Amino acid sequence: MALEHSGEILKTQILVAGAGSTGVAAALAFARSGLKVTLAGRFPPPLPGRTVALFEASLRFLDAIGALTKVKQKACPIEAIRMIDDTGQLLPTPDLLLKASEIDLPALGLNVSNDELVEILLGLAREREAFDLVEADIVDYVFDGAGAVAVLADGRRIEADFVVAADGRQSRARAVAGIDTKEWTYPQVALTMLLSHKEPHDNISTEFHTRSGPFTLVPLQGREGAPHRSSLVWLMSVADASRRLSKPREELEFELEDRSRGKFGAIKIEGGIGQFRMGGMRVSTHATGRVALVGETCHVFPPIGAQGLNLSLRDVADLEDCLASVDFANPRELAHALARYDRHRRADVGFRTLGVDLLNRSLIIPQLPVDLLRGAGFVIMTALGPLRRAVIREGVSPHLLLPRLMREKAPREGGARRRRFA
Ligand SMILES: Cc1cc2nc3c(=O)[nH]c(=O)nc-3n(C[C@H](O)[C@H](O)[C@H](O)COP(=O)(O)OP(=O)(O)OC[C@H]3O[C@@H](n4cnc5c(N)ncnc54)[C@H](O)[C@@H]3O)c2cc1C
Repeated sequence: MALEHSGEILKTQILVAGAGSTGVAAALAFARSGLKVTLAGRFPPPLPGRTVALFEASLRFLDAIGALTKVKQKACPIEAIRMIDDTGQLLPTPDLLLKASEIDLPALGLNVSNDELVEILLGLAREREAFDLVEADIVDYVFDGAGAVAVLADGRRIEADFVVAADGRQSRARAVAGIDTKEWTYPQVALTMLLSHKEPHDNISTEFHTRSGPFTLVPLQGREGAPHRSSLVWLMSVADASRRLSKPREELEFELEDRSRGKFGAIKIEGGIGQFRMGGMRVSTHATGRVALVGETCHVFPPIGAQGLNLSLRDVADLEDCLASVDFANPRELAHALARYDRHRRADVGFRTLGVDLLNRSLIIPQLPVDLLRGAGFVIMTALGPLRRAVIREGVSPHLLLPRLMREKAPREGGARRRRFA
């Protein structure tokens, strides 16, 4: 390695960079299969109003890493998704209801606060001493044919056979590995908030498709004094976001009640409001040499259809699959496994990124043919049960390339699988 070794040196097999939800989940998944894992990164700051809806395949993954029971205690089941065309387009469009019962599931997924999810995953890791936790940023890397060295902000170094980069959209690991990105922006901001409301949500997630983007209320677990709660993700123009953020709370609450057509009764905003500029990103490859990318390190798109973290957990499960039984001392074997990972992710990430991009643009660019197509899609899906069921299944548990950790009851902790190491 080309680095001067001045500070303390830590050694590991898998270094996971970044302690966001994807990174902690990745560390738990790799530690579970018997590898020596180190997770490095500062713990993420609280994200106001942010929750994640996790679907069936992700729940199987959480079950496999031993987190599902704890997540369920904090989450609310999503039994159906209702989509309402609120664009005011010419063709009258029926509401589309996608129900879990149609595909014989009790729920499509769960909605849980982002902060609580990370806390549960980190708590599990500490409880089981599953992996080494180093609470410091990584400022530099050296990759070579035999492994990687990561330099921490406090001067320590970590030597690893392999790096799983989960250090987010500005990934240092990705930059040092020389992986190119393609980035773009949307003229939108997402405001996020937690709401309590008068009327029950009946465990239904309600998406109003408006001209500025979706306005989506996702059911949340009730709490004492607030039995009916939801999280809101609301896409709008940058100017509208700043106008709404400067409004008195009460006025904004009236607007929310109005926007949701009074379906939830009177609405109160709990706590802070989050704001996130909308953009997109893709990468030239998902893995190279001694590093593989997972989560927002390799895909970013707007929060439509709750795809982001579900896709990130598929990255992790897929990588774990591809690296199973790989001898890290054998560069050809490793290169072969990473080429397979890249092929899989290219298909899955590409499909989701395109789907979200098309739906988002079809809303914000008012064009009659596009409106008619979108409206026709709603009509056809409402009328055709088999098509609707296929779409629901694909949304909650994609049938193509579903990794083993999401497919089957996973083997017991401690690594029932065989691994070879130098
Ligand atoms: C408004 C909104 C709503 C969403 N709703 C959903 C939903 O319902 N369902 C869903 O599936 N997805 C949803 N998503 C997407 C989902 O939240 C993200 O995909 C997910 O949070 C990304 O997690 P991550 O761990 O990949 O990235 P991040 O959360 O960005 O984590 C990256 C981590 O890396 C760390 N880091 C950065 N640089 C370094 C460094 N040099 N060294 C070490 N660590 C570093 C950071 O501190 C951070 O902790 C939503 C997104 C938004 C914006």
